[in-house]
Amino acid sequence: MKKICATIMLIALCLNPAVASAAYDAGHAEKQITNHSNTETTRKWAQNGISSTFVSNSLRLNDNLLREEAAHLLSSIIHYETQPESNRALKFIDVDPHSPYYECVTAVTSTGVMNGITENIFGMGQHLTREQAAVILYRVFSTQLEKDSRAELGDILGSSEWARGSISVLAGNGIVFGNTDGNYMPHNPVTRKDFITLLYRLMPQPHKITVNVPTLAEMPEYVSLAHLHGKKLIALTYDDGPNRINTALILDSLKKYDAKATFFMIGSKVPSQAEIAKRVVDEGHQIANHTFSHKALPSLSPADIQTDINHASNAIERATGVRPTLLRPPYGSHNAKVRDTVDMPIMLWSIDPRDWSSQNADAIFRNVTSQARDGDIILLHDNIGATARATPRIIEKLQQDGFIFVTLDELIAVRGGAEAGKVYYRFR
Ligand SMILES: [Zn+2]
Repeated sequence: MKKICATIMLIALCLNPAVASAAYDAGHAEKQITNHSNTETTRKWAQNGISSTFVSNSLRLNDNLLREEAAHLLSSIIHYETQPESNRALKFIDVDPHSPYYECVTAVTSTGVMNGITENIFGMGQHLTREQAAVILYRVFSTQLEKDSRAELGDILGSSEWARGSISVLAGNGIVFGNTDGNYMPHNPVTRKDFITLLYRLMPQPHKITVNVPTLAEMPEYVSLAHLHGKKLIALTYDDGPNRINTALILDSLKKYDAKATFFMIGSKVPSQAEIAKRVVDEGHQIANHTFSHKALPSLSPADIQTDINHASNAIERATGVRPTLLRPPYGSHNAKVRDTVDMPIMLWSIDPRDWSSQNADAIFRNVTSQARDGDIILLHDNIGATARATPRIIEKLQQDGFIFVTLDELIAVRGGAEAGKVYYRFR
């Protein structure tokens, strides 16, 4: 079956009449370059270092293109105006900062030309599929394409929904073709020479085209997390604030120890404590949603659940400029109705020292530090004085034990992501 597909693919490559008539100078072509539409281009690009071998002296034109190789090829022909800080910014946990592909993957993903296969995984070592290739080419060259020219290839409905528009516009513009049976085979890998050919059709000369990469400030989610890989991470979370006295004391401690935390605020308290809420954000901590009224959500209708959460997000955004992306339901209480209604990940906890019950700094300190493990989420309350007093002791002890205190967003990003309506207790 595999062999048949490969044969069909090969035939398909020779279908375009323009391809067959393309100049082919056998005398000058390097021997690993086959009689292919872009023979001349491939050779020139190879000589100019645009397409490269990376691991051997062969261009391996019939090999399947890896995703990081696509990033390299794209960043060779597209000049990305990278800002110094975004050049170091990477959120993919499978792209090592020491990898030779680090810079090009960062460049193409920072511009949105390529996305990861998930929020935090680029897909290093995986083949670029034909449908992924179509989407990438559409993004890069959309201004040159006639959007109304569409052609539906035989198996268009077999392609992923996000790829169908790109494939049909590229087909309508004569850039991609179907195989002999009229199918595009969207899930097959694209070969190195196929991808170069497609690029060549869209860009006959390897002119450098310029794409501006947004700055980090414009793209706050692109925070470099490389330093957190392989480390012991833990998240302090504080509910029921903001509180003029205790939130401020906790922020002082976090600053002293260079630790980050997440604050689940009650929306109704935010307007009168807007300054402390703003300070939380300004000092690099995460602000999150603990509803507006602090009612148990399972007792509300779906419409009321939504309203209560939105009111809190609105109040927090007005005070801080940041709209929360995570929810902690009051009392940790949820059911199927709540989960179906909420459009954010639901963050519970793995360590609960019951600070509201003991109101005792020693007890809180002992409870937390004796249980702490990598990936834990610690539930505390920033309206309790004993918690504010226990906080610097907890941080100092756990930092001595090798823990790094991160926001929930950082923990989520490093540990595989979180989805709306799902409940999370820890990220090991
Ligand atoms: Zn609460």
